[in-house]
Amino acid sequence: MTGRRALLRARLVLAVLAVALSAAPAAPAREHLRIRWQPERPRVGDVLWVHVQGISPGATVEGAVAGRPLVFFPYADGQAAVAGLDVEVKAGRHPWSFAVLEPGREPRTLRGRVTVGARQFKVQRLTLPPAMVDLDPETERRAVSESERLRTLYRTITPERLWRGRFVRPVAGREPGTGFGSRRVINGKPRAPHTGIDYAAPAGTPVVAVNAGRVALVGDFFFPGRLVALDHGLGLYSFYFHLESVSVTEGEPVERGQPIGTVGATGRATGPHLHFGVYVGGARVDPATLLRLDLRD
Ligand SMILES: [Zn+2]
Repeated sequence: MTGRRALLRARLVLAVLAVALSAAPAAPAREHLRIRWQPERPRVGDVLWVHVQGISPGATVEGAVAGRPLVFFPYADGQAAVAGLDVEVKAGRHPWSFAVLEPGREPRTLRGRVTVGARQFKVQRLTLPPAMVDLDPETERRAVSESERLRTLYRTITPERLWRGRFVRPVAGREPGTGFGSRRVINGKPRAPHTGIDYAAPAGTPVVAVNAGRVALVGDFFFPGRLVALDHGLGLYSFYFHLESVSVTEGEPVERGQPIGTVGATGRATGPHLHFGVYVGGARVDPATLLRLDLRD
């Protein structure tokens, strides 16, 4: 090391020490914002968990990821939010930004880009006689108004977080649900992507709430059949389709793991299975990625 370098280095060490010393008495005010993501490398259709640390207890955090606003809530030693990377979001770099507002302080903002990895979804091309595909006008109207009702529901953000801790599987067993994002092109016309996962299970298998929440909807719809929608608060919803029976009523609070019905084959289903869907802030996400999040109570 040359003398000049050694001097520079000594000065740098002193400067760092000076900053550290001057910062010490006013510790929380100088704390750096830290952001933790789960998963660290998200992909199209993932639930993305954001945890902001290094903020004072009275802080308000606002922000957006990939153009969708986030709703933050107190979590552990900071605040957290659940973001949804919609099944049809483009792979690539998406901007994020957070603003931390604390009483008596200048607002702090952080910005960056998150790389969303591509994911291959299955595409199935089918040619079928039109009579098998096209619904009669009355059924068509019914199906359209029912899907509109579901859309209105999952775009409604209730202001309270009702869930706590990890999310659990809606049916017992270990096999992963299948089919998220798969698409059917029937007679050249692309159908909406499959925005849930299917669990094969015998009719009558108990279906449980994946986390605490409130029963937002119980219905018997043309495609989904007998269904339950749970509102977990702050824009997070879970949906359970094709049920044989339902054991909860609208407006009722539910606990994580509480039975809400049983597996069936109602609606458009080729056999008994549970269709399980999750929506976050209106984004249609892969429910398996919600179940994988490592969350504390
Ligand atoms: Zn399904």
